[in-house]
Amino acid sequence: HSARLDGLGVTIFAEMAQLAVTTGAVNLGQGFPDEDGPEEIREAARRAITAGHNQYAPGTGIPALREAIARHQWRFHGLEVDPDTEVVVTTGATEAIAAAVLGLVDPGDDVLVLEPYYDSYRAVIQMAGGRHRPVTLRAPDFRLPVDELRAAVTPRTTAIVLNTPHNPTGSVLTPDELSAVAAIAIEHELVVISDEVYEHLTFGRPHVPIATLPGMAERTLTISSAGKTFSFTGWKVGWATGPAHLVSALFGAKQFLSYTSGTPFQHAVAEALDLPDSFYSSFADGLRRKRDLLCAGLGDVGLGVFVPEGTYFATTDVAPLGFADGLEFCRALPQRVGVVAIPHQVFHDDRPDGSNPGRTLVRWAFCKRDEVLEEALARLRRLT
Ligand code: PMP
Ligand code: GLN
Repeated sequence: HSARLDGLGVTIFAEMAQLAVTTGAVNLGQGFPDEDGPEEIREAARRAITAGHNQYAPGTGIPALREAIARHQWRFHGLEVDPDTEVVVTTGATEAIAAAVLGLVDPGDDVLVLEPYYDSYRAVIQMAGGRHRPVTLRAPDFRLPVDELRAAVTPRTTAIVLNTPHNPTGSVLTPDELSAVAAIAIEHELVVISDEVYEHLTFGRPHVPIATLPGMAERTLTISSAGKTFSFTGWKVGWATGPAHLVSALFGAKQFLSYTSGTPFQHAVAEALDLPDSFYSSFADGLRRKRDLLCAGLGDVGLGVFVPEGTYFATTDVAPLGFADGLEFCRALPQRVGVVAIPHQVFHDDRPDGSNPGRTLVRWAFCKRDEVLEEALARLRRLT
């Protein structure tokens, strides 16, 4: 393979999803819900296919979806975006992130990322010829160390990939943390690529897009996805909103990656975005209950639990049970008790001394039916 793939290996999600299949383990690894999104939205996709919406959509997305995204940004966040120039539809948030990085980062640029970082950030920054500069959110509370963020800026820093609610830690940036990021971005003229795919999955602390802070709308790409909000991860419909010059840089790359994204799913997601507020809040309420169920059970097993403020992932420390390495733990867990989870350490850089801040941390997805969570917990009790 090319040098731009050096060291990237196989994504942990593929490795662990494969292990789940071959061992028949309960899969609390890769983050996807085991119940699909609303039937009326699935029906909308079928209707779109029957109505003949099966050929290429416009590259930036069908107008109905771009307009629905603009309405959503206004309804939930008070963000005003022009559906024609400030919205682009992508093949999942993954493509939005990749195209943003490829469209905005030059070889030799430094890009700040919150560590643990979602694995595609590091990969696409490397593919663009940039260098990721991690700023570490540390257990137990995974707050943003603002001084370390400021200290990580170099003369070559051009962008920051932000992620809140944060995968895998489940932390949601506070107003103070967001203000500090904004001040640093403005002072150093950084572009902010803000991954907000879990924007609706919070359990108390509300999600605030950094684009809503003073001076930030003009330097921020806000990214989200229908996968997480509506439980259609397999549809791969995502989007980005932001000022026209940043959206057009993103689209400049996207047009040569996929050109356009799946047409019938765009029609269906346009309808989903207009679902009433009650849909959004009841989805989050249901997940909060699942979070509490899983976290209580993981605690009973004897793991150190960090209860998340958002996302559908809970983190535990496996050290209290005597395990020294989360990756080894996760690789052995399907055979040992029949459960799959994701180790944090792969979302961290190994330090020069061989240490890794996520060494003993493990992530568990709770976007699963209660009986699946109960079964996983019953199996995990065999650990001790
Ligand atoms: N960013 C984060 C933080 C994620 O957890 C995920 C996984 N859904 C993505 C991006 C990718 O989203 P999509 O499936 O829409 O490409
Ligand atoms: N975002 C999901 C997760 O974090 C799925 C990731 C993936 O399969 N690439 O688990």
